[in-house]
Amino acid sequence: MADYVLEKFIDKKDIKSKIKDIAEKISFDYKNSERLLFVGVLKGAWIFLADVVRAIELPLEISFIAVSSYRNKTETNGVVRLLWDIDVPLAGRDVFLVEDIIDTGLTLKHLKELFTIRKPKSINLCCLLDKPSRRLVDIEANYKGFTIPDHFVVGYGLDYAGRYRNLQDIYKIVFK
Ligand code: 5GP
Repeated sequence: MADYVLEKFIDKKDIKSKIKDIAEKISFDYKNSERLLFVGVLKGAWIFLADVVRAIELPLEISFIAVSSYRNKTETNGVVRLLWDIDVPLAGRDVFLVEDIIDTGLTLKHLKELFTIRKPKSINLCCLLDKPSRRLVDIEANYKGFTIPDHFVVGYGLDYAGRYRNLQDIYKIVFK
């Protein structure tokens, strides 16, 4: 039997409305950009990315990058491994790096440094969830959904040991 239960934390209606806000802000701020590129960090950001880009009515392209920072547990080992790189050049583009959640900040800091070397016109960090109390490095999202306390959350793309990514709401894991 599982040694934890899931407790509803953020309702799908609130996620939907937050995504609308984020998409409106980005659409306004970048209305004149002709070279928007959204890069989703796999695997956690795929559902969030899909919903955000569909709410933006501007010409844009999408790519993905895959990293591993967690293994079947709730704690990071601090090592960010690049598993899959993007397939397009960044030079001269307005790039949005889209993450499910910022926790220690190590993943986004590492990716931002990697992307900066490739000379984009701009880089923005966009995340659905932010856990600032866990931060180990100085990094902030330019566009973000919810600031949350130190809970381990699942659903809407986020997993625990590979499960729960398909849930429409976000839940916190409560260990018994
Ligand atoms: P960071 O590098 O900021 O510590 O962690 C980023 C990654 O850790 C996220 O993209 C996500 O995959 C994972 N992560 C951090 N906090 C949580 C959480 O509460 N739930 C889940 N499922 N993953 C998390």
